[in-house]
Amino acid sequence: MPIIARNLLCTPNVWGEMNATQASDYLSRLDRVRHAMTQSGVDAALLSVGHDLPYLTGYHAMPLERLTMLVVGRTGVPTMVVPRLEVPRVTPVPGVFTVVPWDETEDPVKIVADVLGDARVIAIGDQMWARFLVELLPHVGGARFIRAVDVVGALRVSKDSSEIDALAAAGAAADRVATQLQSGAIPLVGRTEAQVSADLSARLLAEGHDVVNFAIVAAGENAASPHHHPGSRVIRAGEIVLCDFGGTMNGYCSDITRCVFTGKPTADVRAAYDVLFAAQQAGVDAAVVGAACEDVDAAARAVIDDAGFGEYFVHRTGHGIGMEAHEEPYMVKGNRRAIEPGFAFSVEPGIYVSGKWGMRLEDIVVATANGPQSMNVVNHELVALDV
Ligand code: ZN
Ligand code: ZN
Ligand code: ZN
Repeated sequence: MPIIARNLLCTPNVWGEMNATQASDYLSRLDRVRHAMTQSGVDAALLSVGHDLPYLTGYHAMPLERLTMLVVGRTGVPTMVVPRLEVPRVTPVPGVFTVVPWDETEDPVKIVADVLGDARVIAIGDQMWARFLVELLPHVGGARFIRAVDVVGALRVSKDSSEIDALAAAGAAADRVATQLQSGAIPLVGRTEAQVSADLSARLLAEGHDVVNFAIVAAGENAASPHHHPGSRVIRAGEIVLCDFGGTMNGYCSDITRCVFTGKPTADVRAAYDVLFAAQQAGVDAAVVGAACEDVDAAARAVIDDAGFGEYFVHRTGHGIGMEAHEEPYMVKGNRRAIEPGFAFSVEPGIYVSGKWGMRLEDIVVATANGPQSMNVVNHELVALDV
């Protein structure tokens, strides 16, 4: 770790708070990235649009034709090359990066090449525009390129405490919307799925989300399609309504599924939901540090298999979540990766009977040394609404 970083770690608050993430968080992430760079012989990492840049700096570059590039060397303070007109959007974090603005008549690729100096092995972010790399190539003859996912991506799987706080805040906001659904505050019968989807979206924003990523509303037989697109189908009395919604709040995602029944649930739905409830709980209970990702899937699936619904559980049990709504790690058979503290992922088994109904129950869970910690604690029952 460079000296300047060590000094700053002792006084993380001198320039105030930036969102929930402190400068000390960025510095420790940078430290881990540099460790990974050293391990894999990488001299410099180039990060542009995508999520690695905000992970290291808090700055989200707009996916525009003008170059934004963070150059991370093995030592020294990283350099962020930014179009001058975007500089007002960059929140400075002294010690974490310095900003080098470029003017409309300058060649930003040349500036990046100068910062790179004689770097021989360069890691490139997956989402960097190809044009920047193509333009860079003549400036760095003989350099070798690898994917930055190998030095940054692996680190992003384990969330640090400020990230877990952000996931918890987003989860709590989604829980508040789910509470409104379960209390009957969101009218269902007589409205279309699309109208209820728009309603859920507005409520996610009202509860603090910055962006809505999806709001699936699927009634009756439509709920048998896991990624159903809410449409003109009018919700009736006497059916299940599956709601799966989430958004991004302070850079981190929420994702929750709850089902309600318009009226008194039918016996077949009631019986299947009891199985689903137990399966989801088994999946959460299996999400302990040291277990394999596939163990979470197996635990949830065993409950559904044993009850005879195995053929109706047609997808993996969960996906990682963080800055992106779906990211590593995946809770799926064959993923033997051991769960580490800070892994954040969904546990969302479902039962889908084509032509009749479908159901899913989803929470976001973070693995900790003290066991699985759920970001969603709102009622897990199939709530029967008065109609
Ligand atoms: Zn999905
Ligand atoms: Zn979901
Ligand atoms: Zn999900």
